[in-house]
Amino acid sequence: IAKQSGKNRYAVFDTQKDVEKRALHNNLNRFEEAIHNDELLLHYQPKVSLINDEVVGVEALVRWQHPEKGLLYPGDFLSCVEHNTLAIKLSEWVISHALQQIVAWQKEGINLPVSINIGAVELQKEDFVTWLTHLMNQFPSVKKSMLEIEVLETSALADLMHVSKVIESCKNAGISFALDDFGTGFSSLSYLKKLPLDTIKIDQGFIANMLDDVDDLSILEGMIGLTKSLKRQVIAEGIESEEQGRKLIELGCPFGQGYFIARPLKSKDVPSFIKEWTLPESWRTQALVSSA
Ligand code: C2E
Ligand code: MG
Ligand code: MG
Ligand code: MG
Repeated sequence: IAKQSGKNRYAVFDTQKDVEKRALHNNLNRFEEAIHNDELLLHYQPKVSLINDEVVGVEALVRWQHPEKGLLYPGDFLSCVEHNTLAIKLSEWVISHALQQIVAWQKEGINLPVSINIGAVELQKEDFVTWLTHLMNQFPSVKKSMLEIEVLETSALADLMHVSKVIESCKNAGISFALDDFGTGFSSLSYLKKLPLDTIKIDQGFIANMLDDVDDLSILEGMIGLTKSLKRQVIAEGIESEEQGRKLIELGCPFGQGYFIARPLKSKDVPSFIKEWTLPESWRTQALVSSA
């Protein structure tokens, strides 16, 4: 049977686990190749003030321009890298390309802070701060404050002691931290006071349902109040409509990000977005009312 079915003979002799292992191994090799061949690219999603016309930064989001499969998104390939040391190579690629982009924008007279997403593997590194500052020192014209690190709430909670030390030393070096997808970690909130975070990003799930789910609206209101009393910045992710944005301003949320404002952009499209972005009229009015 094995001979007859040729290539498929693995299916006969191997357990499902072996097959999965081999597939993962192949995927990892292929992804490592993609990093070396520069098949990756970054898109940049703007973060804006909800109360004035300022674009406060952009978030770098990785994509893979696969030669056969086309443009792939993190959801298509990140899961195979996530628990592997290859995640570190990915982050090194992302960080140095984000820093190169900051330099390029600086040359155009644009001073734009960039956020990057870091996974649990990188965060667990013993020498995280040394690793990161070493990468940054290769771009001496970029101030440390131009880079912000986003970590998932779930990764931060995995080792609170270590992570809080990492954030503290990054902070001392001038690099700021944001907590991504806040509200999805199912944890007691007391951990927040242990982490010297600068910013909390409210998960897009709460924004998606805020207009028709009164419970989500109350939770949102609570989160915004909480971050304010803890003296942290707060930004809402996943704003998809004008009305969601207006309501967030009413709730006192000062920053936002989402498809309604801008989709993740090619780097070359960022400067014109910055020039052209202005608040929708209803937001401007709400901002006036709310600050009165
Ligand atoms: P995230 O950091 O929470 O990023 C937000 C994701 O939501 C992005 O998806 C973005 O395109 C999408 N998004 C933004 N605004 C809206 C909106 O209004 N509505 C909806 N439905 N979606 C919106 P993307 O680019 O597919 O990234 C998914 C996740 O992959 C990111 O979630 C982040 O956790 C991870 N990721 C992205 N780039 C990197 C990276 O370079 N390194 C690592 N380790 N993770 C990354
Ligand atoms: Mg993020
Ligand atoms: Mg997020
Ligand atoms: Mg997310």
